[in-house]
Amino acid sequence: MKRKWALGLWTIALSYVLTSCSAAVSQDKSPGPIQTVETTANIPTSTPNPIPTSTLTPTPLLPAKAYMICIDPGHQAKANNELEPVGPHSKEMKPKVSSGTQGITTKKPESVLNLEVSLLLRDKLLAEGYQVMMTREKQDVNLSNKDRADIANNAQADLFVRIHADGSELQSIEGISVQYPAENSSFPKTMLQTSKDAAAEVLKVMLDKTGAKSKGIVARSDLSGFNWAKVPSILIEMGFMTNSAEDVRMSTADYQDKLADGIKRGIEQWITKYSK
Ligand SMILES: [Zn+2]
Repeated sequence: MKRKWALGLWTIALSYVLTSCSAAVSQDKSPGPIQTVETTANIPTSTPNPIPTSTLTPTPLLPAKAYMICIDPGHQAKANNELEPVGPHSKEMKPKVSSGTQGITTKKPESVLNLEVSLLLRDKLLAEGYQVMMTREKQDVNLSNKDRADIANNAQADLFVRIHADGSELQSIEGISVQYPAENSSFPKTMLQTSKDAAAEVLKVMLDKTGAKSKGIVARSDLSGFNWAKVPSILIEMGFMTNSAEDVRMSTADYQDKLADGIKRGIEQWITKYSK
């Protein structure tokens, strides 16, 4: 009889612990995928006196909130010069999607380079537990800039990341810039600062990873892809395809990995710094 009573008490206590644990996990929105990974990575594997596992706080296998990142590899195989409004309520019209620039030495179309780095970024984010929505995974699509923003909106993305490369008539110009929606754009005012913060963090980490020159962060009010977006948005210009050295560099596997890694870590840093 006594043993049955004790067992009953123990069962109640255990179910209380389990219930309170799961409640704590579902309410805690702060730990993103970064913290999970970094916590694991920081535990030395060859500590002389390893900490007994029982004293370690268990690391959840899945983050409490898996962030949704929408990646848009800029442009596509063929430009679409049909017009669409540059933003909601705007009378100004712009081509649905332009052809982009081209490698001065590699002759690679910008749309191909954008897709190469975007697919690398997708895999890196998925490997760390993020949810990823791609606007395209192949060249042969017909998606206007508004269509791309709509994909990010429908996915309720935490960040809409548009991947592009730059071009200039001055072949000496090189470097990375990250654009964000300007205050006078149609972009939701509540998300302006969030987007600007993301642009700054991503640029900082990308420069650190690649050693590229900085062209700074740039506010834009004239981009349909920003104006139709309703989620935090940035556009990364990874480098100048009209600069021969940077063009060639951006097509090497090693540098593409640095670009994608810089973007991923920049996003992580932004989430760590600004998520509540
Ligand atoms: Zn572009």
